[in-house]
Amino acid sequence: MIGKQQFRLLVLPGDGIGPEVMREALRVVEWIGQYAEVEFTIRHALAGGAAIDAYGTPMLDETIEQAMHADAVLFGAVGGPRWEKLGFDLRPELAILRLRRELSLFANLRPVTVFDPLIEASTIKPEVIRNLDLMIVRECMGGLYFGEPRGIETMQDGQMRGFNTETYSTVEIERVARVAFDLARHRRRVVCSVEKANVTESGLVWRQVISKLHERDYADVELRHMYADNCAMQLVRNPKQFDVIVTGNIFGDILSDLASMLTGSLGMLPSATIGVPRGDRFVPAVYEPIHGSAPDIAGRGIANPMAQILSVAMMLRLSFRMEREATLVEQACIAALAAGARTADLAAAGEKALSTWEMGDAVLHQLEETAGKRQLTA
Ligand code: NAD
Repeated sequence: MIGKQQFRLLVLPGDGIGPEVMREALRVVEWIGQYAEVEFTIRHALAGGAAIDAYGTPMLDETIEQAMHADAVLFGAVGGPRWEKLGFDLRPELAILRLRRELSLFANLRPVTVFDPLIEASTIKPEVIRNLDLMIVRECMGGLYFGEPRGIETMQDGQMRGFNTETYSTVEIERVARVAFDLARHRRRVVCSVEKANVTESGLVWRQVISKLHERDYADVELRHMYADNCAMQLVRNPKQFDVIVTGNIFGDILSDLASMLTGSLGMLPSATIGVPRGDRFVPAVYEPIHGSAPDIAGRGIANPMAQILSVAMMLRLSFRMEREATLVEQACIAALAAGARTADLAAAGEKALSTWEMGDAVLHQLEETAGKRQLTA
């Protein structure tokens, strides 16, 4: 008899609501393991503030080592007021930055999908966002957040001066652009590259490198260019004009948070951080919700676990090539919402709000239902 397919998963719940939403995501992982008859070998480790408290560092070398040997890392969220006074070299957020750097994960993928049952939860008019489905590909290992020189100095007249450097090289631009073009080939085949080529040299190089790569290898995909300020405006005015957006670190950071609000709640949006694929799989890769540790609601059992559960769906699709199961998880989330399941962040005034655990239950219930229906029609 052939043994079960095995996947090694490293789980880093982190701080605040991280462990609360991770519990629900792991119930889904367990369910999928039984349903698809695959074996997930799961290891847990501390990251962020929890690791600072336990070991004095946001991430142990040993945890990085475990991540390198895992097929995927499922990450919760890190940070909180308790660690805010620590220096930049000891902040909880360094856990995720270090993980990305050491695993060479340079592309952060943020799907922005509007779920029909939640269309009223957005502050934008329904007709502007109905059926919205765009993907933001953010370069996340370079640009302004990592460029040198950087620092703070005191000038001769006693004034302080802070400085950072925005820098992008051909290799850095090409590898993230390839991710965007490859994704677009499985979607509507339109990539919009976003920079500030009108006022920055790094933006100009970004535009030239992407244009050449497009001409050379991706002529079957349409390439558009847009300045970042215009993109911010267009995302609110007419977001459905976009298919895949590719951009650098800082613009990606800001535009993806802006785009997340088109969908109504931060608690709904997953993300994947990937590097160069190994064959047809992204291994290793990190999957995490886009929200943070939400200290204002941590410990109350009311956080929305959907973003973490939908991160599991992305992991199944991109790292394990389990497309059928990924779709099953996404459909179960939509069905739970359609059946009226709402955590406090989604509930309208007067509407009953579910706890984190109850929302997990609602998704598991829909998984059972959808899987049952599939078997009947198979
Ligand atoms: P946040 O995303 O944690 O919270 C913003 C708001 O959204 C809060 O009101 C919060 O209650 C709400 N929210 C977020 N996720 C939710 C969920 N799943 N369900 C219901 N409501 C949810 O952002 P913040 O308050 O700016 O940051 C808090 C901490 O998280 C900071 O220390 C920050 O550095 C850190 N952070 C970490 C990550 C990460 O780990 N990748 C990302 C962003 C922020």
